[in-house]
Amino acid sequence: MAWVSKRLSCAHALRLHAEDWRGLAFAMKQGLNKMSSLQQLEVTGDHQDGTEKEGMAHMMSLYWLLAKAPKLRVFSANFEKVTWVPPLSQLKHLVLAFKEDTGDVFAHLPNAEALETLSLTLSGNALEAPALDLENMPCLHTLTLTRVRPAGITLPHNCSLHLFDINDAVLSDAQWDAALVKVRTFDYTDHSRLVLGQFPAIFARFLNITTVALDVSHLGDSENYLSLEGLSQAERLYLCGERVYLTVPARVSWQKFFVEGEEQVAITFADVAYFAQAVPVAYFVFCSLSGPSLMHLTAAWAAGGRTWDGYACGGSTVIRSPQDSRRGGAVVTFGTCLCGACMVCLRRSGIAHTF
Ligand SMILES: [Zn+2]
Repeated sequence: MAWVSKRLSCAHALRLHAEDWRGLAFAMKQGLNKMSSLQQLEVTGDHQDGTEKEGMAHMMSLYWLLAKAPKLRVFSANFEKVTWVPPLSQLKHLVLAFKEDTGDVFAHLPNAEALETLSLTLSGNALEAPALDLENMPCLHTLTLTRVRPAGITLPHNCSLHLFDINDAVLSDAQWDAALVKVRTFDYTDHSRLVLGQFPAIFARFLNITTVALDVSHLGDSENYLSLEGLSQAERLYLCGERVYLTVPARVSWQKFFVEGEEQVAITFADVAYFAQAVPVAYFVFCSLSGPSLMHLTAAWAAGGRTWDGYACGGSTVIRSPQDSRRGGAVVTFGTCLCGACMVCLRRSGIAHTF
């Protein structure tokens, strides 16, 4: 155990499973009293198999560890229930998932004054959460929320916001007004949704949006096509549903536009010649296509000297414009998170160590 203590005291990055806590507690008893090199700590699993008393003991070990690691910069954990948040004044990157919050997470986060990125994920059922006030965290530049739905949110001036699976009813609350301008990623999946509800009105307030991914049952309908006018400033759009009815505005900033209708796609372009010239990468996947718009688009691509492909794939048809090589550079594919605050993003950017 002395050897373990010595190794732990020298570790730069540590990944522990919840079950390892007894060993850690024992090492602490044997004289492990400082983790002076530790910069990154990841806790995987949760304490749901133990008794509540054991869970509390694990939590206390963790708090001890955090207090004894003055160089800790990255902390990632998955908790069953967060009952108390320790002082995290040294942390720069916090990635926290929890099934239940007693309200203490939100109350204590502003104490993490050095925090630059924050990712909060609710792994249990949606819960009503109080408003999240992070306005006075001077260094916070990126916040990612996944299924965490505070009643409202205030953020520092330059903080970007990335939302995953947060519905329109939450975002329609006036307490979210100022935050919507800061939304950079909006990713929403709900196959029970037949209509888009208040999303079009909310889209119009996403003034700094870069990535939109929607996967719902129906996007618009044959009577009411979904206008993408409010998303014209985005860079990447991924729109998926069984039936997809869209109108594309005359001027867009899109770098990548991906539309998939498992059954049907109907799309109209306000200015197909402009779209063909301005959007470097466009994919359309459908079983059945309504209207001649994509024929007009492929004709416009051909007229502009752009290459394009059309082929059958697993019962669907794909029409796509490969990236124009003259534009150069790689286009990030969908499925790659760009939030900047989750562990995938922290590892990719080199901030977090890869085990
Ligand atoms: Zn990410």
